Amino acid sequence: MTTSDPTLTEHETIGHETIGKGIHIVGGGLTGYAAALSLAAAGFPVNIYQPDVPAVDQLRTTTINPAAYAMLDQLGVVAALPDDALTPVHHIMVTDDADRANPLDPVMSWSHTKSGKEKGNNEQTDHAPTPLAWVISNAVLVHAMQHMITASKLITWHALAITGYHPRHPDYDHAAAALVSADDALIPASLIIAADGRNSQIRHAAGIRQISRNLGQTAIVSQITMTDPHRQIAWQRFLSGGPIALMPMADPHMFSLVWSMTNADATRLMDADKERFAMALDDATGLAFGRMTDMTERQAFAVIPTHAVWPVSQRLVLIGDAAHAINPLAGQGYNLALADIKTLTRMLTTARRDGIDIGSQHILNRYALARAPEVTAMTLATDGLNMLFSFGKKRRRLAGMGMALANLPMVKSLAERVASGRIFDR
Ligand SMILES: Cc1cc2nc3c(=O)[nH]c(=O)nc-3n(C[C@H](O)[C@H](O)[C@H](O)COP(=O)(O)OP(=O)(O)OC[C@H]3O[C@@H](n4cnc5c(N)ncnc54)[C@H](O)[C@@H]3O)c2cc1C
Repeated sequence: MTTSDPTLTEHETIGHETIGKGIHIVGGGLTGYAAALSLAAAGFPVNIYQPDVPAVDQLRTTTINPAAYAMLDQLGVVAALPDDALTPVHHIMVTDDADRANPLDPVMSWSHTKSGKEKGNNEQTDHAPTPLAWVISNAVLVHAMQHMITASKLITWHALAITGYHPRHPDYDHAAAALVSADDALIPASLIIAADGRNSQIRHAAGIRQISRNLGQTAIVSQITMTDPHRQIAWQRFLSGGPIALMPMADPHMFSLVWSMTNADATRLMDADKERFAMALDDATGLAFGRMTDMTERQAFAVIPTHAVWPVSQRLVLIGDAAHAINPLAGQGYNLALADIKTLTRMLTTARRDGIDIGSQHILNRYALARAPEVTAMTLATDGLNMLFSFGKKRRRLAGMGMALANLPMVKSLAERVASGRIFDR
């Protein structure tokens, strides 16, 4: 166990104007922002690096589970959101590509069972059901957090890209690692938190081994209008090329679409005009919510689940997609990132209280150990569900797998735990 060097303070400015030695977060995406807010709420001064204000992601939404909601609520993010920003999900339905008379007749489904909290309000009400999840626009969430970051006295924003990492800063030896900024400054850091996404440059610079699984799938994302209302249902259908998910939005006829398919199909559908896209979508949904009448632009995301084998190194910790970019089929990537942040904040707070160096290997290894079970389970479960239910009826039948397995209580329970984000109860 190393104790902090008493000659160095968290605010010391060496080698780079106004940049202290304390905690440095690389990446101002959803994860970096939430980490900055969480650590600042615990009283840590933090620096955050993002080359420029990230392009606002107008198309994407994030589904957050109750644990993530509770955390955002505690940080004050929920209260900072516009009133209708969070669309509650009251039912989850999962179905397959078998021909069914009623496509809304799910293979698996869950509904809320008890009363609970409403937005920004800690009082229990008898009438408001506890949603299973909430859907929020990434743009709205980023905007609210940006506002809070600007207002925070403990968070310093730097419009800088970080290009490198060294395990030791030459002026401090073991007492600080170093970040290299795009303007070639060497920034000393007690602790570096890399939240720089799936292709993390910091992970690469630190030589942390990663495992990627490219199964040739792409997810098309859009916001679509259907003739029938969503009735707060989050709906997912496993098709041969990958799952299609429709998440409810504030407008009762609007859905957030995440449709995974083979790369070839995605190229074809990204190029298709709206009418041809609507025909393909209606076919894929089996008209579960009627016909598609309108849509926003489309965006394509390569589905390449990637995770770091061990997400820590000398004075460095990876969080969010930099540590584990999981298959988007269950909408759990950001929920895992928030759980990373919660654990890290708790451990750093305890270390500070006990006078232990917050960047010591002992603390970081404990963090990695604490996160490993949930991250591994969610990674395996999402990869497993994708393999089980996608990739062609023929192959599944040959292997004797697929939705027949969905009748097994174990698979149902796994799918429910993945969908609700409760792979392990926290
Ligand atoms: C189609 C799709 C749907 C999804 N739906 C859901 C969902 O419903 N629910 C859910 O929980 N999760 C969902 N996810 C996962 C979720 O979007 C991600 O887990 C989350 O956005 C990860 O955020 P991040 O900040 O870790 O990474 P990123 O969003 O990749 O952000 C990384 C940031 O770091 C910055 N950066 C990169 N390199 C550097 C550098 N060298 N220096 C400084 N800054 C740098 C980037 O500019 C960026 O701002 C979905 C993912 C996809 C692809």
